[in-house]
Amino acid sequence: MSTLPDLVGRTSRAGEALSLIRSGSATTIAELSAAMGLARSTVSERVDLLVGRGLVSAELAPAQGRGRPASVFRFDPTARVALVAQVGMSGMRVGVTDLSGTILHTVTADVAVGQGPRALVEEVQTAFEQCLAATGRTHDDVAGVGVGLPGRIELDTAPGGTAPPAAWSPYGVRAILAEAWDVPIGVDRAVSLLASAEQRSFHPGATVLLGLKVGTVVECGVVVDGRSVGGGSGIAGEIGHTAVAGAEAPCVCGNVGCLNAVASGGALARDLAAAGHPVASAREVAALAAGGDVDATHAVREAGRRIGGVLAGAVNLLNPDVVVVWGYLADGGDHLVAGLREGLYRAAVPAASRHVRLEAARYGDDAALKGAATAVIELALDPAHVDTLLPREA
Ligand SMILES: [Zn+2]
Repeated sequence: MSTLPDLVGRTSRAGEALSLIRSGSATTIAELSAAMGLARSTVSERVDLLVGRGLVSAELAPAQGRGRPASVFRFDPTARVALVAQVGMSGMRVGVTDLSGTILHTVTADVAVGQGPRALVEEVQTAFEQCLAATGRTHDDVAGVGVGLPGRIELDTAPGGTAPPAAWSPYGVRAILAEAWDVPIGVDRAVSLLASAEQRSFHPGATVLLGLKVGTVVECGVVVDGRSVGGGSGIAGEIGHTAVAGAEAPCVCGNVGCLNAVASGGALARDLAAAGHPVASAREVAALAAGGDVDATHAVREAGRRIGGVLAGAVNLLNPDVVVVWGYLADGGDHLVAGLREGLYRAAVPAASRHVRLEAARYGDDAALKGAATAVIELALDPAHVDTLLPREA
């Protein structure tokens, strides 16, 4: 004799009810019953479980005609939180969001990814704790954890790197996080998360969107038909390692003349420092350019031209509707985008370059955090997962 079927049966499809309530497509017991093809009593029982977990709240709607007032159910995004992080090659931004993806608190910190995934995750965890403390939430409130990382080539060749390359697999980082969190965990490239967030929120009609990050390194996220494209081995969009004609600077990947070696924020910091400017990072290059320094603005504009030239290949290949631009160098005034436009128009098929819109990422600094939140909230509120969260006993 087993009671398991009954226990499973009792919570099954509660997640489906939550999904319908959350989307607004069915918000009363009658509507849920019709949409799910279940008896009203069964639906009521499932909804009670959701109310018990705080995921759904009820309010009484005014009676229609002579009918009795019906309870209208609403998803409560404040019931739980998601912890999210966007990690770059020199800095990270960590935040806590509610279940609608609204950012409640953020922490920024410098980070050295060369120390390897375990040390990085420790720093991220410290920032997570700060975010929870600042918002008065606890570990029990956490419904999911999402982290955006630099691309694999960057991680494997990070300055001062001591970790074996395989340690940086997204699964490696996920496994380390899973030691601390028994909730859904999403790990992806930050630039892919950024591209997905911008596409979903601001360019839902875009068939192809590229999210170009110009920070310490140059990277690109690719979204086609609403789906992030990772490629055969997860390095789709690594345009920073495309060689630039005539360039001979050595790159960390072992080739010479890569875009990253001549036009990234890291390369500009190196070149401007060699010319006597007091800069050591992409962020400082951006600040110098924003302040109107002639050498810095010229360097950023020329970097934009070179990146635009490489981007032209992607534009010809994928015919994007939109390229959103993000990262420290995009913060240094209009010079980067002006250069990108010049490089792109010179090198891309006119029909493709005329079509594409080039604009700043509208989520700004938080773009990849928003993407990480969206991705992990989808995992946390997946109907099958929600069913497993609910109490199995009456
Ligand atoms: Zn390279």
